Amino acid sequence: MQVLSILGATGSIGQSTLDVVRRHPDRYRVHALSGRQQIGQLARDCAEFAVPLAVLPEAAQVDALHAALREAGATRTEILHGPQALAEVASCREVDAVMAAIVGAAGLLPSLAAARAGKRVLLANKEALVMSGDLFTRACQDNGAVVLPIDSEHNAVFQCLPMGRVDAGVTRITLTASGGPFRRRDPATLASVTPEEAVAHPNWRMGRKISVDSATMMNKGLEVIEAHYLFGVPLEGLEVVIHPQSVIHSMVSYRDGSTLAQLGNPDMRTPIAHALAYPERIDSGVAPLSLVDIARLDFEAPDLARFPCLALAFEALRQGGAAPNVLNAANEVAVEAFLARRLSFDGIARICAQTLARCDAGQPCGSIDAVLEIDRNARKVAADLLDASVS
Ligand code: NAD
Ligand code: MG
Repeated sequence: MQVLSILGATGSIGQSTLDVVRRHPDRYRVHALSGRQQIGQLARDCAEFAVPLAVLPEAAQVDALHAALREAGATRTEILHGPQALAEVASCREVDAVMAAIVGAAGLLPSLAAARAGKRVLLANKEALVMSGDLFTRACQDNGAVVLPIDSEHNAVFQCLPMGRVDAGVTRITLTASGGPFRRRDPATLASVTPEEAVAHPNWRMGRKISVDSATMMNKGLEVIEAHYLFGVPLEGLEVVIHPQSVIHSMVSYRDGSTLAQLGNPDMRTPIAHALAYPERIDSGVAPLSLVDIARLDFEAPDLARFPCLALAFEALRQGGAAPNVLNAANEVAVEAFLARRLSFDGIARICAQTLARCDAGQPCGSIDAVLEIDRNARKVAADLLDASVS
């Protein structure tokens, strides 16, 4: 029996995780669930999975959750709140594995707490790794934490590494990208894209922030940085290919001319089930792949002029140091402003580029305090740029 804490349980990844767990009551027990919104859902899940602890990031919703737990009949669930509580359920002795599925920088401290406690870390929260790459990977190594990637591309790469790691035989990692909803749209019209259009992803149902990131391809950029830290591959060994069907989730090429790929229907329950059960295989509820039904798979090179956010992520990785963290912070500020209709779609790349240009990539980032300070400063720079651009 594996005991889990699921952080970000009310989100898209959190709900898919619970769907897999629901199929295997003999294998998994849930110790804690966290969520910020959708309090009713959180309470119903606590009742269904007999969860001892429900965690809120802030105190504001505690009363609402008490009422919702009562209504759902979750009499055994205790409520904790605050950042310390999130870190506690990610690192406590009772827990074997942590699903890190909070979106954005808010997930960094609990994900790091799980790494420092040597847990099995099921990492969906790519922003945490982008912000603190070296620090996070060192925390895993020093404490024996095993990171199992949930991002479908990185999970695919992991599955295409029979030795479990990149060695001298590997020549290239290819991350596939759907190209999002605007792959064919006239770039001159991107300024008028609405949040509704941007979150309407052709192949995946995801949270709003990652859906916008997919539309700008910043998501793929963050994934290139994520792949660099997870697999220790330099920028030159990483490639992005647009593959609109999202059937090949990524590939690893070897010195002898072999390229291994992992294929499957685009459904996050596959990488989640893989990571939960690794090295075993369990049922995920995902329909089997039918290549005959799909009939064709297409590929093209990404157009960096159409997707400047992808170029910015390559640039941030080239600069190294604090640059990926700065880029992530600027992007979070810009995407939030876009979703609030305070910034145009093409303004996201502009705010990111300007923030990156104004923040020093050479700032020290070897401690968690330094990482958080870089994030805070970059958010302030991005917010000022935003205010200046809308006033
Ligand atoms: P989502 O918006 O659907 O869910 C986010 C979860 O985090 C929710 O439970 C929400 O309540 C919680 N949350 C939000 N802000 C918080 C805060 N400040 N403090 C604490 N909790 C907070 O997002 P998602 O699509 O499930 O994505 C989660 C993470 O997984 C992201 O990092 C994303 O990049 C990554 N990811 C998602 C997918 C996908 O298919 N959805 C695929 C790959 C990677
Ligand atoms: Mg992905």
